[in-house]
Amino acid sequence: MNEKKNIAILGSTGSIGTQALDVVRANPDSFSVEVLTGHGNADLLIKQAMEFNPNTVVIADESKYQYVKDALQPHDIKVFAGNKAIAEVVQMENIEMVLTAIVGYAGLESTISAIKAGKQIALANKETLVVAGELVTKIAKEHGVNLYPVDSEHSAIFQCLAGEFHNPIEKIYLTASGGPFRGKDKQFLSSVKKEQALKHPNWDMGAKITIDSASLMNKGLEVIEAKWLFGLKHEQIDVIVHPQSIIHSIVQFTDGSMKAQMGLPDMKLPIQYALAYPQRIKSDFPRFDFMKYPQLTFEPADTKTFRNLALAFEAMNRCGNAACILNAANEVAVEAFLKDKIGFLEMSDVVEKCLETVTFVSNPGYEDYVATDKETRRVAIELIKNLSKQKTHP
Ligand code: NAD
Ligand code: MG
Repeated sequence: MNEKKNIAILGSTGSIGTQALDVVRANPDSFSVEVLTGHGNADLLIKQAMEFNPNTVVIADESKYQYVKDALQPHDIKVFAGNKAIAEVVQMENIEMVLTAIVGYAGLESTISAIKAGKQIALANKETLVVAGELVTKIAKEHGVNLYPVDSEHSAIFQCLAGEFHNPIEKIYLTASGGPFRGKDKQFLSSVKKEQALKHPNWDMGAKITIDSASLMNKGLEVIEAKWLFGLKHEQIDVIVHPQSIIHSIVQFTDGSMKAQMGLPDMKLPIQYALAYPQRIKSDFPRFDFMKYPQLTFEPADTKTFRNLALAFEAMNRCGNAACILNAANEVAVEAFLKDKIGFLEMSDVVEKCLETVTFVSNPGYEDYVATDKETRRVAIELIKNLSKQKTHP
C-alpha cells in the first residue's frame, strides 16, 4: 500500500501549486511529481523542477522556452512550451492524478484532456466547471474519472459526504468569509483601490481569486461549481457569511441533520485530502484552538451591494452558456480592475452587460464555449474602453 501516487501539477508556480508542492515535500513517500507547469515565472518553475525532478516541465509562455530548456537540460528533464503542450503532457501514461491549479478559463482545455485520458482530477480550477460544468462532468462520467474538489468549501462538502453517498442531500450551505469589504456600502466600494481589495482577512491566494473574494464573485463561481460537483438543483444551494472561515461548509440531509467540516483556514488541508483520497495523511498543520475562537458567527450575504453573487445565481438559473459568459466577463473585468482601468463596482456592470448582450446558446458544446468566451472577452473589452472614455471626457 506504500506505492507513490504519480501526479501532474498544472499551475505549480501559483498559490495552490506551491502549497501542493509543500504537501509533496512533507510526504515524499506518498507522492511523486511527474509534471510541473507554469506560465510566466520561469525561475520558480526551474527551481521547482530541480527540487522535485519531474519527468516533464511545460512553460506556458512560449517566449521563455529556451531559457527553461537551457536550465533543465543538464538535469534530464523534458521541457515543452505552450498551452497545447500542457494539454498533451497530462495524458502521459504514468500520471495517475492531475492537480488543475491553473487560474481561469486557461485551465479548461488541459482539464478536459486529462479527463479524456482517464486521469483522476484534483480540481482547484473552479472556472472549468463554471464555464463548461455540464460538458466536463459528462465527459468525466463517461471516462470513469472522479473530480476531487480542492476548493475548501467543496472539499468540506465532500468530506461531509464520506459514508453518505447513498443518502440524498436536502441542501448545502457554502460558507463565505465576506472578504475585506464585508459590511461596506456602495459608496465606500465605489472608491476602493486594488491594494485594499488584495488584502484578504483569512486567506492568502492568487490575485484573481482574491479580487473575486472581495467582490463575492468567488462565492458565485463556487455556487456553480457545487451544482456540477454534487449534482444539485439551484434551490439546494445557499450561501452564508461566516467571517471566521472555520466552518468550511455544511451539508443538510433529508432528516434535517447537518454535517459541517471545520478547521483553521489552510488550503494545504483540502489539497492534501484531494491528493491522498481516500486516505488521510498525518500532518503537522496548526490545530484549531476553541478558546481563540469563542464565537463563530453567521450572517446573510449582501447581494444588493455585492451584485456579483446575484449575477452568478442568475447565470446558473439561465443554464446554457450563461455561466461561461459570466466567467469570461469577470476575468476581463478583474484584469481591468487590477490595471486601475475600472472601479470596483464597475466589474459587476461589465458582467451584467455581457450577460445581457452576448449571444445566448441554450445547448452548448465545446466549440460553443470557446466561441462564447471569445465573444464575451471582445464585448467586455469594448465596454471597458467606453467606461474609461467616459471618465476622461465626462
Ligand atoms: P495563482 O494566480 O496564484 O496561480 C495560477 C497558476 O496558473 C500559476 O502557476 C500560473 O503560472 C498559471 N497560469 C496562469 N495563467 C496561465 C495560462 N494562461 N496558461 C497556463 N498557466 C497559467 O492562482 P491560485 O490562487 O493558485 O488559483 C489557482 C486556481 O485555484 C484558481 O482557479 C482558483 O480559483 C483556485 N483556487 C485557489 C485557492 C487559493 O487559495 N489560492 C482556493 C480555492 C480555489
Ligand atoms: Mg473556496
